[in-house]
Amino acid sequence: MNLLIKNIKQLVTVSAAGKRFKAGPEMNDLGIVENATVLIENGRISWTGRTSDFEQTVPDSIDTLDAEGLVALPGFVDSHTHALFAGTRENEFALRSAGKSYTEIASAGGGILSTVAAVRAATKKELKKNARKHLDGMLRSGTTTVEIKSGYGLNEPDEIKMMDAINELADEQLIGIAATFLGAHAVPPEYTENTGEYVQLICSRILPYLARRKALQFCDVFCDNGFFSVDQARTILEAARTLGISIKMHADQLSQIGASVLAAELGAVSADHLEKIDDAGIAALQRAGTIATVLPGVSFFLNEEYSPARKIIGAGVPLAIASDFNPGSNMSFSMPLMMTIACTQMRLTPEEAITAATLNGAAALNMSGQTGSIEPGKQADIIFYDVPNYRSIVYHYGTNFAAHIVKHGTLLDY
Ligand SMILES: [Zn+2]
Repeated sequence: MNLLIKNIKQLVTVSAAGKRFKAGPEMNDLGIVENATVLIENGRISWTGRTSDFEQTVPDSIDTLDAEGLVALPGFVDSHTHALFAGTRENEFALRSAGKSYTEIASAGGGILSTVAAVRAATKKELKKNARKHLDGMLRSGTTTVEIKSGYGLNEPDEIKMMDAINELADEQLIGIAATFLGAHAVPPEYTENTGEYVQLICSRILPYLARRKALQFCDVFCDNGFFSVDQARTILEAARTLGISIKMHADQLSQIGASVLAAELGAVSADHLEKIDDAGIAALQRAGTIATVLPGVSFFLNEEYSPARKIIGAGVPLAIASDFNPGSNMSFSMPLMMTIACTQMRLTPEEAITAATLNGAAALNMSGQTGSIEPGKQADIIFYDVPNYRSIVYHYGTNFAAHIVKHGTLLDY
């Protein structure tokens, strides 16, 4: 697909220097070009700059888009979601609104395990049908790449069913999809007395089977009190690493047990959540170059504390924002909304929020060589917004202003 986009009022490149991620003060530098043109050849960006400087020869067969009055941003990279599930949990939302805590609801049969029961009962076809609707909504709201985790099967056949569904969606959908195995999302009800046996099942059977079939890009573990201990997480993640699989962690969400320090020690690509991260965890992530992925929508939806994003940025750790879209703790996949919450509640600047939701999200998926910024050589994942300037995307919240979406060079009009 060849496409020439002219007269862009404001082009937010995020990065123009081939950076893998941005950290510290450079998160505020968005590489903005006014009155810009972008040339896309074979789905990839081949030129960006001011329209007045454009002198390239264009291919014979090319479509043109006049983006007059529009603001262009890289497509968002939502690097942490649980977008494949069955059933919804409106009843829990109502209970929480009436004052019940997430833990009280979980012990009354709600929480992750209620979604596990629904996913086990669903066919792969049903799971994919549910997910397609969400993926379409994500793309319409500007997310061009999304990570999806398993973790609602919690046994061998149902975890494999989820991973197969994610991989099949990746083959058929336009939105980019990264597949993460999260067999250690919660302790399965069948293994509450012998969690070690489930850890062994993951390490000796499920992970090797998925790795042989190249069915996963990442292995993730929910490491926290009441879930998987630091030692159990280490066992699973070392097994994944031995198989050549990159790792991620749900770390420091509910309590501080040393999860982000473990993530750094094991060379995880990202440590996610971090509501309870301490100074040792922040220092460890900084030394390891691990991306700190914060999930502002979860704190908002559960009305709980936010991750110390300012402190994390101040320490020079690259920070990413993701939605954590899931039926229990955040039923929204709107990245612009997550960015607004990050600005109002975590005190990010709009510029930091944009960097965190694009380039740094791509880095959290080992994909910043391909997407996350608008620069020559990368695939053309660009959203055009009908707003006065780029800050409006975060400021004028709750409404989707995407006018055109370009995914891998393909122009979609909505
Ligand atoms: Zn999660």
